[in-house]
Amino acid sequence: MHITVIGSGYVGTTIAACFADLGHEVTAIDIDEEIVNTLNDGRAPITEPGLDDLLETHAGDRLTATTSYDAVPDSDVTFLAIGTPSNNDGSIDLSALEAAAEATGDALANKTDRHLVVIKSTVTPPSIPATLEPAIHSGANENDAIEVGMNPEFLREGSAVTDFQQPDKLVFGTQSEWATERLHNVFEPLLEHHDAPVVETDPETASMIKYANNAFLASKISLVNDLGNICKEFDLDAYEVMDAIGLDDRISERFLRSGVGWGGSCFPKDVNAIIAAAQAVDYDPAVLEGTVEVNDRQPNRMLECLMSHVNPEDARIAVLGLAFKPNTDDIRNSRAIPVIDALQSRGANVAAYDPVAADEMSHKFPDIEYAESAADALEGADGALVVTDWDEFSELDEEFDAMATPVVVDGRRCIERRNGIIYEGLTW
Ligand code: NAD
Repeated sequence: MHITVIGSGYVGTTIAACFADLGHEVTAIDIDEEIVNTLNDGRAPITEPGLDDLLETHAGDRLTATTSYDAVPDSDVTFLAIGTPSNNDGSIDLSALEAAAEATGDALANKTDRHLVVIKSTVTPPSIPATLEPAIHSGANENDAIEVGMNPEFLREGSAVTDFQQPDKLVFGTQSEWATERLHNVFEPLLEHHDAPVVETDPETASMIKYANNAFLASKISLVNDLGNICKEFDLDAYEVMDAIGLDDRISERFLRSGVGWGGSCFPKDVNAIIAAAQAVDYDPAVLEGTVEVNDRQPNRMLECLMSHVNPEDARIAVLGLAFKPNTDDIRNSRAIPVIDALQSRGANVAAYDPVAADEMSHKFPDIEYAESAADALEGADGALVVTDWDEFSELDEEFDAMATPVVVDGRRCIERRNGIIYEGLTW
């Protein structure tokens, strides 16, 4: 098939490269010329394991990138993978996606064969009939050969390529059997190698599945953190408790690690967006609001643990880990941000270290010290807060001896308790 993918960011680049790898002819379209040139050079505009290899193999052959929408009408199906960031009130900002939807419609205005436009971006259910379908159809002068579908994406940063290639489900939200069939044709080569259930539904239910999925996972972590905070107050180890409840197969052992909370580009944005969408129809989503509240609380609990031993004012405090999770330089909504904010507001001198994310964080906090290594950050420190569970932190040992006051608050349970340090686990 010939597939056009609009937007070559995290999701767009991954799916374009993977579709090419499945044997499709792919045109990746982005307004950013630099991204387009990078793709045509066979390189990924983002850091993601396996992506450079796929691009090197397929760029210039089955995969071409361009800033023009000209290839859209010649393709069999178009995927929209444009960012849907948060507005200040938590709702999603559809402006970039709406513009791309209109431009896609415009490119299809004269197409006489049926054409499927699939929304890959994460969008709230009501926004499909209220905003996106009208944008596509008005761009296309109401050409009724165009049908809109929804195929939410569940890949995770850090394992995007394998998540795409080995999904645990595919969700096809369509309005006709023809469109469902077309999506089956797109994913047929993937399903030949990897057996995944395909959920066939309508576009709005498909978009709700994506939000429910992320809201459930974020709520699971917040519930585990809430219970973990109670464990800490009772002087109990939350991990011992969670290991036991994970044996109940209705609960499952996954996502039971309590700590400083969730961040990144998806959970915060998606949970806040579905809360805002629910409130817009006068529903008060109490559990989801609590999910966000508990998550917002965890960084402060780290500070409280620290302050039970050290006054942060004028103290040197090491912050170990700045990325929102290990193996990425992505700091979007990283828990390190509220941790550093809270330290600074209490007058601490922050010495931060991350193996890859320091550069990114230096734009946000230009005035703190960025150490070259965890050892450098710990040297002379009056306390240390462990925010990201990079593997290298679990190997720290004698480095703690160089601290002025060896108070270590572990937000990820990745530091071994050892003699000579005052160790505080966040929920244990
Ligand atoms: P992104 O911001 O990385 O990429 C969006 C791209 O679209 C950018 O390269 C931008 O230049 C391009 N663009 C903007 N306007 C355009 C236009 N009019 N025409 C062509 N290109 C245009 O976004 P992302 O992280 O890839 O996310 C895309 C969507 O997928 C979002 O809705 C997100 O919530 C969802 N999603 C993201 C992830 C993730 O891990 N990043 C996972 C699942 C779902």
